[in-house]
Amino acid sequence: MSLFPILFIGHGSPMNAIHNNHYTQALQNIGRSLPKPKAILVISAHWESNGTLVHQSDRPRTIYDFGGFPQELYQIKYPCAGANQEIAQELINRNLAQPDHTWGLDHGAWTVLKHIYPKADIPCTQLSLDRKKTFSEHLKLAAQLRFLREKEVLILCSGNLIHHLGKITWQENATPFDWAVKIDEKIKIELEQRNISYFVDTWSKDSSFRMAHPSNEHFLPLLYALGASDYQEEYHRIFDEIHHGSIAMRSFMIG
Ligand code: ZN
Repeated sequence: MSLFPILFIGHGSPMNAIHNNHYTQALQNIGRSLPKPKAILVISAHWESNGTLVHQSDRPRTIYDFGGFPQELYQIKYPCAGANQEIAQELINRNLAQPDHTWGLDHGAWTVLKHIYPKADIPCTQLSLDRKKTFSEHLKLAAQLRFLREKEVLILCSGNLIHHLGKITWQENATPFDWAVKIDEKIKIELEQRNISYFVDTWSKDSSFRMAHPSNEHFLPLLYALGASDYQEEYHRIFDEIHHGSIAMRSFMIG
């Protein structure tokens, strides 16, 4: 059974929605090279909840879950159809998620989708991150989502592999901090070796984890990319710069 490729995208600043840079060009290239999926399930750092929820609506609203950015950003809409029948109902039937009718697409989803699939002509929805789950429970849930890939559904995991807002430099083209470069290099090696136990067990015991992730939410989508794929599948680098000093934009595709 062939599996639809799975993406982990580092989303970084919401400004990427309107930028034209190496990062947004890499996303556009991915959109052009991937086959068109039947639907998209986004797992974004920006939707945490108690229990796992899946959004059900005919047309998910575009959520502007950030403050202090130019007005232009608040005018962008990503008007895709909802994927409530195709995906959400099946996840609910399998007891993998509970229905939600209030969310939509947060900026972890639409600022990325806008570049990958600019036409917004593929049904999309989001799955939330259960804040009570352990890393291994997230990984286990991810493995149960693998069937979606057999149904030509794109699972888009959107977080950041280093995300320290407290140390951010807002200036564009900021030089990455040495500590961030060092951590990112280690992540690269462990990812290429598909060392899942490093990400589930080992890294969080090392002080570099809290340096990279003062809180877990931007890390968790990675566990879905790893859990819903197999180590025999091919790893493809998409992008690997560090933006704003402390935000790793490392993005990859598996499959
Ligand atoms: Zn974010």
